[in-house]
Amino acid sequence: MMNLPVDFITRTKPLLGKEWDSFIAALNADSPTSIRINKRKYGEGLDLSTVPWNSNGYYLDKRPQFTFDPLFHAGCYYVQEASSMFIEQAMKQYVKEDIKILDLCAAPGGKSILIADTMSGKSLLVSNEVIRSRANILSENIAKWGNPNVVVANNDPAQIGKLTGFFDIILVDAPCSGEGMFRKDEGAISEWSVDNVKLCKERQQRILADIWAALKSGGFLLYSTCTYNMDENEGNVQWIRDELGAEVLPLEIDDEWNITPSFVEGIPAYRFFPHKTKGEGFFCALLRKSGEEDHPTQRKKDEKGKKAKLDLPLEYKNYIREKERFVFYPKDDKWYAFPADLQNERAILSSRLNIVSEGILMGEFKGKDFIPSQSLALSNYLNVNAFTSCEIDWKTAVAYLRKEALVLDSQPKGYILLTYQGKPLGFVKNIGNRANNLYPQEWRIRSGNVPDNEVNVIRSY
Ligand code: SAM
Repeated sequence: MMNLPVDFITRTKPLLGKEWDSFIAALNADSPTSIRINKRKYGEGLDLSTVPWNSNGYYLDKRPQFTFDPLFHAGCYYVQEASSMFIEQAMKQYVKEDIKILDLCAAPGGKSILIADTMSGKSLLVSNEVIRSRANILSENIAKWGNPNVVVANNDPAQIGKLTGFFDIILVDAPCSGEGMFRKDEGAISEWSVDNVKLCKERQQRILADIWAALKSGGFLLYSTCTYNMDENEGNVQWIRDELGAEVLPLEIDDEWNITPSFVEGIPAYRFFPHKTKGEGFFCALLRKSGEEDHPTQRKKDEKGKKAKLDLPLEYKNYIREKERFVFYPKDDKWYAFPADLQNERAILSSRLNIVSEGILMGEFKGKDFIPSQSLALSNYLNVNAFTSCEIDWKTAVAYLRKEALVLDSQPKGYILLTYQGKPLGFVKNIGNRANNLYPQEWRIRSGNVPDNEVNVIRSY
């Protein structure tokens, strides 16, 4: 039986009334496991029960060892808590055009890649995380998903707030007291206190105030937490509306989804409780910023027309499909491709923010040799025809992901794209008697407890 803090019970019981006992029963049951499929990489639907509020979400009936499934590392799916997949509804119901969107508190990246799936090819996502080590994990997950129109940044909200009127949409998936995670993460229970709820609420308001100027007038703010209390939820939504100036917008929901409405009349918001919806605790609300047309941040004059002096040889540009749609440029000894339509925005972001990764990292020269990068291997724009491909079995794939040296029979020398079940996994450089493993050191599977049986999460269903 879960040992809940007395103060938590005192504060939460009145919110739930006669539903309290079923809530407690749900907290003591197992958490459901859910994944979201990357439709651009894995086109087939799965014969599994679907997450009703999301087009690519599925429930699994057990929790497999995802780490040992190569398709997980290939970016074919992401393990994501089901309730949080609800933000797709806000995107679908309100976002119709090419947009610039900021995911301010983005690591490890589940919501960023969901957003990347819903936005147009001409849209731009800035996915930001303030903690450096977490920003690297975010960048890895974004690269695995494969969308080129994403910039990963590592800034505090106040720095991004200086980009006046730059974004059409901002998602603040705020750091919170995590009451909705009690079932999944026991640490959340021991860290919980009334004081911490207060600190979280104040920090959330600070984050919101710091970022507010970066949202255009008429732009959307999607605010979410994984906690239940009203201070961090409806309370903050009211605060945004009254102090910052915004209108709270309703979302259309299906009654069958069993989503709990806001606890405050006149403030549309969407709550997920584990005894009613199959997922963890979640809260979200959508707001539209009021005010006059503002003057968005522009590129500085001296940067206008500035052209990269160096160009990437055509041979390497051909490593991606639709290369005409991209601009190729060097940065810190590496070559990148970024959508040409978004060059202006990229220039603004690079002059103002601490960028962790951007677009497609194509690779780097070592002497005359151009070493293709992992981000290229996993990009949705990879031109597979530009490489010799070698399909590998599960055992070899796991060895590759553990960054072991491989021996590939009857393959030519040079760079070879390894595929698993037809999906690109990464590169090796075949030197004859063995193949040098180019998998990024920081991404490798560290666990040595390799299971005896193959793990094929989406194939086995
Ligand atoms: N959106 C993420 C996802 O879907 O994978 C989860 C984000 S988590 C709820 C909140 C994030 O906010 C954490 O990654 C945390 O490091 C970050 N954070 C903590 N303090 C912050 C602050 N003062 N300003 C901005 N972000 C902060």
